Amino acid sequence: MVTIAAIIYEPGNSIKNKTGSWRTFRPILDNEKCVKCENCYIFCPEGAIQEDENGNFKINYDYCKGCLICMNECPVNAITKVREEK
Ligand code: SF4
Ligand code: SF4
Repeated sequence: MVTIAAIIYEPGNSIKNKTGSWRTFRPILDNEKCVKCENCYIFCPEGAIQEDENGNFKINYDYCKGCLICMNECPVNAITKVREEK
C-alpha cells in the first residue's frame, strides 16, 4: 500500500532502506593516500562515508549508490572506481 505522498511514517526508516543494491561502479578508498580533508565525507549525498575510531574514512556500501562524487572531489585521487560485480 502506498501512503499519501509516499511518505514513510516509521521513524529511523533510513537505516532499513539501503540504497547500494543498484550500483554500477564501486568507489574504493585508499587510506594510505588519504590526507583526511573530509571532502568525500562532506559531498557524499547519501552520507555513506564515515570516519572510524582511528580517523580513517570508509565507505558504507549498503548506502553508497556509486555516483562517484566522492572520487571527483578527492584532491589526491585516493578514491578510484571498479565495476560492481553482481
Ligand atoms: S559514490 Fe556517491 S554515494 Fe557512494 S560514497 Fe561516493 S559520493 Fe557517496
Ligand atoms: S576526499 Fe580523498 S583525501 Fe579527502 S578524506 Fe576523502 S579520501 Fe581522504
